[in-house]
Amino acid sequence: MQARELGKSGEPIAVIGQGTWALELADEGEARRALHAGLELGLTHVDTAEMYGAGRVEERLGRILAGRRDEVFLASKVLPSNASRAGTLAACERSLRRLGTDHLDLYLLHWPGSHPLAETIAAFEELRRKGSIRHYGVSNFDERELAEAVRLAGPGRIACNQVLYHPGERAVEHAVLPACARLGVTLVAYSPFGSGKFPPPSSKGGRVLAEIAARLGATPRQVALAYLVRDEHVDAIPKSARAEHVRENAGALRVTLDSADVARIGEAFPLGAKPRTLPTI
Ligand code: NAP
Repeated sequence: MQARELGKSGEPIAVIGQGTWALELADEGEARRALHAGLELGLTHVDTAEMYGAGRVEERLGRILAGRRDEVFLASKVLPSNASRAGTLAACERSLRRLGTDHLDLYLLHWPGSHPLAETIAAFEELRRKGSIRHYGVSNFDERELAEAVRLAGPGRIACNQVLYHPGERAVEHAVLPACARLGVTLVAYSPFGSGKFPPPSSKGGRVLAEIAARLGATPRQVALAYLVRDEHVDAIPKSARAEHVRENAGALRVTLDSADVARIGEAFPLGAKPRTLPTI
């Protein structure tokens, strides 16, 4: 399955998308080939942020996605330090200009900050009315912060909560994922490969992923992604600036784990106790 509903919006979003953190460091031609390969394979949710490369990633995406904007579900994020009402409106305008588009499909508050959340949400609503954004959501919110966001925005308005989630970091399963399911909010798993620290084959977890992958004719990374998106409320946004990696990641959409696989992965990557604060990167 390539897509599932975004929050309660009634609109589909890609189950596997494409992250862009640090994309400014890659060769632009390679990054273009990777992102385009992803679009052709259904990885249409492209996630960025004003923070990435201090705006250079958005500018690069503007060039890479020119002429293909209609194929993309484009998400960006406002920095908490900019997330006052006026600051959010201005930040969105800057992102739109850098991205060379007149609207974002999704706009997120990057993490909870000191501006009152009600102000940020009021700005998101205004941007929606103007047509500058189609949906909005949050990122790095724990279950309590998410419930407050839903209370302030009203039911069905917060489309997603983008949080750290990979086999080696499952803390969101304690309370954030259940809250997302209860509140009708999509959980977008960021750093699904541990942000460059994917379990090596020599580790216990790496061995389990490799064994399951071999049985299914898949790769360990495909098994890791399939593990995360097995829950109907979860999508994932692996980042890759290499077309062959993007093709591998897209192949996870064809991988289905059975309950024994899920249990083995869960044992190899224990959930652990609920941490006091939500892990982030
Ligand atoms: P990630 O997706 O877990 O891992 C990216 C790393 O994995 C890159 O080094 C990439 O290298 C490599 N990789 C990807 N596919 C591969 C494959 N098939 N084979 C081998 N290597 C592969 O890390 P991430 O970038 O931290 O997280 C993903 C996205 O989530 C970010 O890009 C960003 O959009 C978002 N994010 C959001 C937050 C937040 O606070 N909201 C925080 C962190 C990340 P290559 O490029 O060479 O393939």
